[in-house]
Amino acid sequence: MLTVRRFDKVKILWGKDRGKEGEIISIDPAKARVLVAKMNLAKRHTRPMGQKDQGGIKDKELYIPISKVMLVCLECKKPNRPKFDSLSDGTPIRLCRKCGGTIPEPKKK
Ligand SMILES: [Zn+2]
Repeated sequence: MLTVRRFDKVKILWGKDRGKEGEIISIDPAKARVLVAKMNLAKRHTRPMGQKDQGGIKDKELYIPISKVMLVCLECKKPNRPKFDSLSDGTPIRLCRKCGGTIPEPKKK
């Protein structure tokens, strides 16, 4: 089971952005990797695509292995691997291993 969701806040544990925090913008469950906004950027040289896109050099996020990011608890602000539990009605919840607080499912945007 994946411990992170889209729009979760995670800490980067690897690469040049190690130690920074960002928001997950995409998850690739099949390959267990994630895209984190503004993290692990690579310069991409792009061609003009249509009238509004002039092309040129753009920053683009590259996938980071899920094992290299850690969920950040919104309560205690500490990165940790959450513990899974469920409510009495069966709703799965994630619990912070540091403070025991519930890590809410990120709101869809
Ligand atoms: Zn916590």
